[in-house]
Amino acid sequence: MSLITPLEVYKRLLTAYGPQHWWPADTPFEMMVGAILTQNTSWQNVETAITSLKMYHMLDCETIASSNLAQLGEVIRSSGSYMQKARYLQQFSIFYYKENRRAGLMKWPTSVLRKRLLGVHGIGPETADSILLYGLDKPVFVVDTYTKRLFVRLEHFGPELNYDSIQHYFLQRLPESLPLLQEFHALIVEHAKRFCRSKPQCDNCPLIEYCPTAMCSTMEISRIHTSEIE
Ligand code: SF4
Repeated sequence: MSLITPLEVYKRLLTAYGPQHWWPADTPFEMMVGAILTQNTSWQNVETAITSLKMYHMLDCETIASSNLAQLGEVIRSSGSYMQKARYLQQFSIFYYKENRRAGLMKWPTSVLRKRLLGVHGIGPETADSILLYGLDKPVFVVDTYTKRLFVRLEHFGPELNYDSIQHYFLQRLPESLPLLQEFHALIVEHAKRFCRSKPQCDNCPLIEYCPTAMCSTMEISRIHTSEIE
């Protein structure tokens, strides 16, 4: 079986699911808030927290930066680990405000901007890259659990590869196209929800003819799954 290229995976997923038009948010700041709140929780919980922030007129960096932490935590309670996320959100809002919001951040080259984002307490590589890609229109590749799981199963790399190496792998093989990179991440998430779940539903998967894992026994799939991610 020949290895399907990342670009071909993108094309096949786009054909199967259509454009996803991510990120679901009304403003870039709302997108960034969502990227922080979505850590280790479902999108439904994030939506509830964002609706709550809007209801209390708190979805603004200046308001969050100066808010009482306990009150902020209560407002975003639905997002889980809410006091920790309230701290992260406040730290990010202070940073965003001091940097003169989106316009101020946009003046930095991507590599500098990424380092600055990673310097904010609570912002890891996946969150930083999500903010860069969807909030600041920078053509980066976001690596998440779904991406790693899919491409380990497609045998592009082993489960031991770290975040930066995986990102480098894709950036070397994909065009530096913002719309493509934005769509690709969203399509991978959609694919992981529909077919490539932790227990894969391989029947009717649009990638089945290119997937060596799909031909493994149930025991083998289980072995691959348990040794992946982290
Ligand atoms: S065939 Fe199965 S394991 Fe392979 S990509 Fe599709 S759902 Fe995932």
